[in-house]
Parts: sequence; C-alpha cells; structure tokens
Amino acid sequence: MIDKQLELFASLNYPIILVDLDNWPLWANRKFLSLQSISKKDLEVTEISFMIKEMLTAALRDGQLTVEKKRFQATRSPLKIAGKKVAIISLFDISQYVQLLAKQEMFENLSEYLPEGIILFQDTILYSNPALEKMLGYTGSELLGRRFLEFLEPSQQKPMDENLQQLMLQNKSKVETILAFTEKNGQSLWTRIKTRLVAQGDTTLFLAIIIDISKERSEMQRLDRLANTDVLTGVYNRRKFDELFLIEYKRAKRYSRHLSALFLDIDHFKKINDTYGHNIGDEVLKKYSQLVQAHLRETDVFARWGGEEFIILLPETSSEKAMILAEHIRNSIATFDFAHVKNVTTSIGITPLKGKEQVNTFLKRLDQALYIAKEKGRNQSILL
Ligand code: GH3
Ligand code: MG
Ligand code: MG
Repeated sequence: MIDKQLELFASLNYPIILVDLDNWPLWANRKFLSLQSISKKDLEVTEISFMIKEMLTAALRDGQLTVEKKRFQATRSPLKIAGKKVAIISLFDISQYVQLLAKQEMFENLSEYLPEGIILFQDTILYSNPALEKMLGYTGSELLGRRFLEFLEPSQQKPMDENLQQLMLQNKSKVETILAFTEKNGQSLWTRIKTRLVAQGDTTLFLAIIIDISKERSEMQRLDRLANTDVLTGVYNRRKFDELFLIEYKRAKRYSRHLSALFLDIDHFKKINDTYGHNIGDEVLKKYSQLVQAHLRETDVFARWGGEEFIILLPETSSEKAMILAEHIRNSIATFDFAHVKNVTTSIGITPLKGKEQVNTFLKRLDQALYIAKEKGRNQSILL
C-alpha cells in the first residue's frame, strides 16, 4: 500500500518530498533528488537531511524557494501513511510566471513616465497609465475593468472594433488610426492611436499607444478654414466654390439630377461705400451674408464670388424652386433694416443646369440672368 502511494508520487513530474511533522525528509521523488543533486541514500545522511529540513521550513514560511535560478512555490499537504501523520511538500516551478511579473512591473514603471497614453486591454481594460488617465479625466480605477470601446465616441467604436479584428485575423503587427475618445466631461478628444498585439502568458492582449492630437487638429482646421473661406463674411471663397462646383456639376450631369445656381449682386453698393464709408460697407456685406445663409440648406454651396457678388449652388433643386428661394432671399434683404444704411437691395440671376452643357455655358447664362435683372431696374430675380 505504502509502496503504491510512493510509486504514484515518484511518477509525478514535479519535485515532491515526504516529510514528518517536523519537516524531516522521509522520501523524495527523482525530480526532487535531481534538483538537489543528491541520491536517495543521501537522505539518510543526517547533515543533508537537516539541511533539507531547514530549507523546506524556510520555503514553507516564505511560500517560495529558489534553486538553480528557478523559483518554486512550496505547498504542504498533510497525509496519513500507515497510520502515521506525515506531510507531502510539492514544489511547483513558477519561474515563468515570475518573469512575466517582472516584465509587467518594468512595463508599468516605464509607462508611468511616458507622455503618451498607454492602455492594455483585451475586451476590458487591464491597465492604463497616468498620461491616459489625465487625457481622459478618469482615474485608473474608473477605467479598469470597463470595456475599452466604451471610452470612444459612439461613431468611432465600429471602426476601432474593425481594427482590432484585423489585428487578430490578418496577423497584422500593428494598426494606426485617428480616433476620438469621449472625455469624462463629455468633450471629444482626437487622438492618434497605435495598437499592437502582445502575448501575455497564454493569452493575447492589445497594447495601444495614444497620442493627443487635438492641438494639431484644431490648427489643421484653422488652416483649412483660412484656405477655404472668405475672411470678412466667413462664407466659402472662390477657390472652395470652384472645388465644390466641379463635384456638384459632375454629379448632376452623371446622374441627370437637378442643379441650379443663383448669382447675387448688391445694388448700388458703391454708393453705400461712398456715403457711409468702407467700414459700414463691410458691415453690410457681413449682415447680408448672414441673411442669405439663413435661407440655405446644409447641402447648398454659398460663396463670395468677389466684392459684393455672391454665388449659390443648389443641388437637387429645379429652376422653379430656385426662383422661389431667390425671391425669399431678395425680399428678406429688401425688408431688413440695416444699421445706418437702412435699405439695401439685391439683384439675382437664376439658372438651372441644362442637359450635358459645359460649365462655361452654364455660368455665362447665370451671369446673363443677373445682367438682365440689373438692366430691368435692379431689386429683382431673373430666371434664364
Ligand atoms: P450695381 O448696382 O450695378 O451692382 O452697382 P454697384 O455699385 O454695386 O457696382 P460696382 O461693381 O461698380 O461696385 C462694387 C463696389 O463694391 C466697388 C468696391 O469698392 C466695393 N467693394 C468690393 N469689395 C468690397 C469690400 O470688401 N468691402 C467694401 N466695403 N466694399 C467693397
Ligand atoms: Mg458688382
Ligand atoms: Mg453691385
């Protein structure tokens, strides 16, 4: 019976030693003996036995034991053999686990000092560094354990999820994207996020480095605004109009959709300047743009053509509807009480894109329509 039990212990592939209640060795398996570089007979030598007893007692007290640079976890289980109370001490190799912990500690220590946000997650967040916590306004414990995607703007969650799938499936080593997070205070934070897969033990995690690009982005937006809008009125400039006009023109032609345009020119604007001064003239241009803008849809393109001339592109709009809109605009200008100047009127030329005509033909007719409106006495809309 005893032999049977020992036989079983002997076959285990981790070190095992049988001890009495004072941890004196009674028997050890081959793994244990080779770990200590001793033979079965050595166990009978009192000095060696005593040394092992002391070693085991210390290991049980500390929970761990280091032999030949390997770290073991020692556990003691009481046992009765032939009516005698003994114990079995097992040593489990935890070196790999310890290495992992050391790596993790090093990683955490490093990332504490990085200015970039660092986040480790699978589905839920496992680790975040102080830089990220500061960026988002959350504490570490508020982030920990919650789903990573939850912290992105709702519109960004699907694209990010697809990125992660790509990493998993296509074995890409990393993906880099520009995505917005939602800060704790509800504001959105634009970031450049580099995500890679990292192996941690048996599982694979995502490690993301997050860089705040909100300053860069608002500077880009500022430059973009500068390049595309008119400084005085804030509406699109001629350059942006040309760009959008070409897109709308091609689309309308290709899919045979309605496209109409209005050409607006303030009447006797020179007189306004001459009578009230250039600054008041500027104020009229600003107010005029606001009044016009109020009539337009998101998809309409409104630009300053130059001086006191403006152009409006109306996608998906027939000439009849364009005429109605022109009259609304003209009336709201004519009836508005402009400071100092009181009455300002405007003439409007209107034309729809006809068939597959050239851009120049279309624009020439538009100009012609405005010319007729002026000729006929101003403050009117003419459709050609
Ligand atoms: P019409 O009814 O025939 O259109 O007469 P008008 O005086 O409006 O026409 P004209 O094109 O001769 O004059 C336009 C004036 O607009 C001339 C120019 O000094 C003035 N102007 C152009 N750009 C600006 C601007 O940015 N600010 C101001 N205040 N005036 C401008
Ligand atoms: Mg003019
Ligand atoms: Mg004018």
